[in-house]
Amino acid sequence: MTLPIVRLKPKEENRVMTGHPWVFSNEITEISGTPKTGEVVEVKDHKARTIGFGFYNPNTLISVRIFAREYVEPDQSFFTDRIQRALSLRERLFPNPFYRLVYGESDFLPGLIVDRFDLLFTVQMLSAAMEMRKDLIYQSIRDLFSAEAIYERDEAHARVIEGLPQVKAIVFGTEKTADYDEEGVTFRINPLKGQKTGFYFDQRMNRLFARRIAAKARALDLFSNEGGFALNLAIAGAESVVAVDSSPAAIENLNCNIQLNHLDNVKSVVEDAESFLGKSSSMDEKFDLIVCDPPSFTRNRKSVPTAKAGYGRLHESLFRILAEGGILLTSSCSHHIFRETFEEVIQKSARKSGRSLQLLKRGGASPDHPVLPGMPETEYLKFVAYRVL
Ligand code: SAH
Repeated sequence: MTLPIVRLKPKEENRVMTGHPWVFSNEITEISGTPKTGEVVEVKDHKARTIGFGFYNPNTLISVRIFAREYVEPDQSFFTDRIQRALSLRERLFPNPFYRLVYGESDFLPGLIVDRFDLLFTVQMLSAAMEMRKDLIYQSIRDLFSAEAIYERDEAHARVIEGLPQVKAIVFGTEKTADYDEEGVTFRINPLKGQKTGFYFDQRMNRLFARRIAAKARALDLFSNEGGFALNLAIAGAESVVAVDSSPAAIENLNCNIQLNHLDNVKSVVEDAESFLGKSSSMDEKFDLIVCDPPSFTRNRKSVPTAKAGYGRLHESLFRILAEGGILLTSSCSHHIFRETFEEVIQKSARKSGRSLQLLKRGGASPDHPVLPGMPETEYLKFVAYRVL
């Protein structure tokens, strides 16, 4: 069997050899044959030694997404094996079947995201090659699990770059909800309607950390979504929790979750964060614990300076309403903002606000979002805990 060959320029191959599975178009010296979008190619170094096998796309900056070091045909059994391998990790990590089942490149299925809510699954294809093989992916999920429903949640911006349409659809089954128990907190999740691919599993471990410092606190969960942090804080003994999100749908679900958990110490507010912070600070309201988990501030590298300024302003506002000795749990999911940059911005805001910081903990996404050591892009979530004096 002969595959089209993509040959790399000298020196460009090092990153790929150390485990980064993308080949950028400017790193290629020569392509044999005329591979089409989604076709499998063999990647070789400048001395013509094989580095790996990947999916080709002539129309994007990422020309090849490597999925194997040794040749394997990406057929039905390939997808079933890879999903099974991803599953075996999650089964070791979590007691119940609610998690990110496949995290793209980190699970050696580049461009594929699958979240599992017991027997309901959401699938997102972030590359043209995965999109072309989506029926194989759906079939593998059906073969491995007695799935009741699969939903296609293809609304990510990354798809635009790949020239793929925005899709939200039921692949099979009907619209259903599933009750997820996060160590004693119940969330009713609608995978077809929830944000992104249904639920923010990535903050799970950080939410558990938040519980440890919740007792008796007057807490604020800013950008709360369906109450991921808010409910965990409320269950863990916070005196009061205010949850703020600008999405009425998210707050509606939060209200449903408050009832499911029989909580009487959570107040939910549909409001823009900036406007909420403005009002709170003019009323001189104070919180002992603030969780801040905004959406991404960047879409590309160009937006980094604006994002930094945005994080700066946001944290200055938070310091205004955080009580002396209060705790701040803050996150950035912006891909192009590195951890050092994020922490520097917070440090600068603290100085401007006349506050001192004690860094208590650094965290990332929960381990159903494993990080590829050779691929910094897989470590997008930066979580930091501070005591603020
Ligand atoms: N902490 C949550 C996830 C938060 S995701 C969890 O653990 O589940 C970010 C949230 O910010 C989304 O729910 C989104 O609706 C909300 N959001 C986006 N822009 C906002 C704004 N300007 N003001 C308030 N909320 C906003």
